[in-house]
Amino acid sequence: MADAARRRPRWLPALLAAALLAQLGACARQAPSARLEGGTMGTRYHITLVNPPRATGTRALQAAVERLLESVNDSMSTYREDSEIARVSRSPPDRDIALSPDFATVLAAALRVGELSGGAFDVTVGPLVELWGFGPERGERRVPDQASVERARRQVGYRALLLDRRASSLAKRAPRSLDFSALAKGYAVDRVAALLERRGIGDYLVEIGGDLRVAGHSPRGTAWALAIERPELLGGEPMARIALRDGAVATSGDYRNFFERDGKRYSHIIDPRSGYPVPRELVSVTVVAASAMLADAWATALLVLGPERALEVAEREALACYFVRRQAEGLRPYWSAAMADYLE
Ligand code: AMP
Ligand code: MG
Repeated sequence: MADAARRRPRWLPALLAAALLAQLGACARQAPSARLEGGTMGTRYHITLVNPPRATGTRALQAAVERLLESVNDSMSTYREDSEIARVSRSPPDRDIALSPDFATVLAAALRVGELSGGAFDVTVGPLVELWGFGPERGERRVPDQASVERARRQVGYRALLLDRRASSLAKRAPRSLDFSALAKGYAVDRVAALLERRGIGDYLVEIGGDLRVAGHSPRGTAWALAIERPELLGGEPMARIALRDGAVATSGDYRNFFERDGKRYSHIIDPRSGYPVPRELVSVTVVAASAMLADAWATALLVLGPERALEVAEREALACYFVRRQAEGLRPYWSAAMADYLE
């Protein structure tokens, strides 16, 4: 039994086979750069700054980044009982729940990706995630019986959420709990990027648990060179290389957090329509987008949609996506039309 990622926080079910995306090699004649790192959301963050401020400025900047990440966690962590998301989840139906503007922004994005993905992405999926043992309660990871799956499924459904963006308030038509794990990491990356920009930094890479955003130039003076690593294998040649000047990249993978029973593997990404973890055909989805939050949400949504439907939706929405599919012969990559602009 490979109970691979037990006791791992739900935020960022981290990296079994290492982060999918890694910055590619160093080179001669580089501009000076600084690397900041630390822990957040159950994983690590890394920031590369090109031509960084002096040491004291860099330390002050890191303190500001950590305060910002802390405030995002205070609002959106399902691991904190006093977080905004925990309070919203506990709130009963038919009452106006006041939301912070940031919370409303993330919820609006989640609902939109829910609609555009035909319900494959569902921000109320928590009871199913919990049932399968991937939630903050960290229950036993086991295959539940059909009746329990049906029971949990009845507690899921984002259509019971009525968001009033103008008033920044939410009403529920039925009890619902919220889970931002599929897009909060990306949201935090966007917030850190905005903080850097406000401080006049234009050349950077911000990464949290494999989701990242870059701007301007890399230390080599070129676009940022990123790799899509081979899922499930440590090291080896990357699947593909991406060159990106301004934008975000996020990856979802069925191999990142899972358990195995009786030779079958169960992933932490659940299809809310069936109540079961996604089948294993689609191994990973990498999305390039302007916002890390949307790249993150779409990567999860497309993984749920499965190999064919995901490509159709990616083309319909003009999303830049790189898919890795598991076939008898091995792993087969394919991509949407918009992705061709980024592949080297
Ligand atoms: P990610 O690593 O971004 O793909 O997000 C995975 C996390 O999102 C899981 O650990 C769950 O907490 C949550 N999740 C699982 N299935 C779904 C789904 N169908 N829609 C939205 N969130 C999901
Ligand atoms: Mg995601």
